[in-house]
Amino acid sequence: MASEWIKYLSNPGSIRVVVLHATELVDEMAKLHALSGGYARAMGEATVAALMLATYAKPGEKVNLQVQGSAGRVAQALVDASPDGKVRGYLIARESAEFAEDAPLWGDQGFVSVLRTKGTEGRQPYVGTVPLVSDDLSRVLERYWALSEQLPTSLEILVRVESGRVTLAGGILIQALGEADEQERRWVESRSPLLRQEIAAVLESPDPAREVTRVMCVPSGAVPGEKREFLEIGRDPLRFECQCSWDRVERALVLAGVDELRHSLEREGFAEVSCDFCTRHYHIASDRLKELIQIAESRG
Ligand SMILES: [Zn+2]
Repeated sequence: MASEWIKYLSNPGSIRVVVLHATELVDEMAKLHALSGGYARAMGEATVAALMLATYAKPGEKVNLQVQGSAGRVAQALVDASPDGKVRGYLIARESAEFAEDAPLWGDQGFVSVLRTKGTEGRQPYVGTVPLVSDDLSRVLERYWALSEQLPTSLEILVRVESGRVTLAGGILIQALGEADEQERRWVESRSPLLRQEIAAVLESPDPAREVTRVMCVPSGAVPGEKREFLEIGRDPLRFECQCSWDRVERALVLAGVDELRHSLEREGFAEVSCDFCTRHYHIASDRLKELIQIAESRG
């Protein structure tokens, strides 16, 4: 199944639902970063979470999700996602032989931070941070939405890794919008256990719309007199894409300063930079390095 998000809106439009399929995408990212087992799962969870945050960003905006854990096998995950479905990310493992394969991935100490960068230059980015109080990233994100964006939300992320391959990755999100009344807000917030129970069926179904309707309408009587309808309002492909380039790498080197560049020139005769997000290597030969030193000098 292709990696894509499918967005639904209730009729009337007070609740939105997103079903996100990312098996191929997460498998590609795990392979790129040579991640397996729990680390591939963690990369997948952070990737799905960041994409969910980008599902309602405006064109030109960018979401940056940072998970900083101090008690689990993952020290840090950083994922950039944009509303056109592009994503990139990397993960820093806490290297330690003492961690068992089933040890917590994220742990329950640290923080989760969401940076929303506006498309227009000069606009202040929005930053929201919540403590990483649970090893379950879906619960932590629900708290983020409730506390930082005042959006009652139920989220479930599922990433399965079997024999070194990502065999299922995705998520389902239900969120109350500004128009939702108190009863709808409470209903949305109480969907978590149901999502956990149904997520595999939703992600594996060839007809997610039917599954969404089924999941949203059971158990019957959850909302008195309720027969809510969900309409598909959009579907976009998701893909891994990095924005690194020669130009950006050279600008970063110039910013690092003359001393740093001279040091590289004297010690190695070249500079080498590799992108954390896509692992691409940039080799800056000595002639170009000398030019960059001149540029850095001219900037004082
Ligand atoms: Zn890159």
